[in-house]
Amino acid sequence: MDVKKIYMDANALLEGHFKLSSGNHSKYYLQSAKVLEDPKTAKLLAEALAKEIEKSGLEIDTVCAPALGGLIAGFALATALDKRSIFAERVDGKMTIRRGFEIKPGEKVLICEDIITTGGSAMEAARVVEELGGEVVGFAALANRGFCHREGSDIDSKPNCRLPKEKPFFALADFTFEMYTPDECPMCKDGSVAIKPGSRGN
Ligand code: ZN
Repeated sequence: MDVKKIYMDANALLEGHFKLSSGNHSKYYLQSAKVLEDPKTAKLLAEALAKEIEKSGLEIDTVCAPALGGLIAGFALATALDKRSIFAERVDGKMTIRRGFEIKPGEKVLICEDIITTGGSAMEAARVVEELGGEVVGFAALANRGFCHREGSDIDSKPNCRLPKEKPFFALADFTFEMYTPDECPMCKDGSVAIKPGSRGN
């Protein structure tokens, strides 16, 4: 499965000259919600990810997604794995689990995002699950920005990866883009102007 082509075809992976929310410039931009616009594509990606997870033998009771980014990916993955699907959401900036969702003591929970950059939101969701007595058994995302090591990839975690090393992280592909400070950006040097296509994506 050519995951990058699927993202390209869905206009979820843009090529150009972009200003990321970090302030750095890049030739690529990931608008990861776009790839889930077509439910058939969402299903296809989630099934491929589920296959990887099932192959590992990891035991899972529930998939928990941090809202908003992880919602669709989490639901699609839970459907493919035939597991319960819940989500965590921020209330006044703090990640919480509400809406009547319960977690049993020792319940095995997989945290699922659409994309993992450093894993900050995923870790916030993991902490809430553990506070409620659940056991976080691993992490999953459709796409990985290459800051965290995913199962089956030869890219090691960078120092800013927040996911715990001892737990598996599953993703379909690494989207590692070169990033430049505006001063060093070769596209700026060529006279083009960076655009900011949306929030996040860095
Ligand atoms: Zn630039």
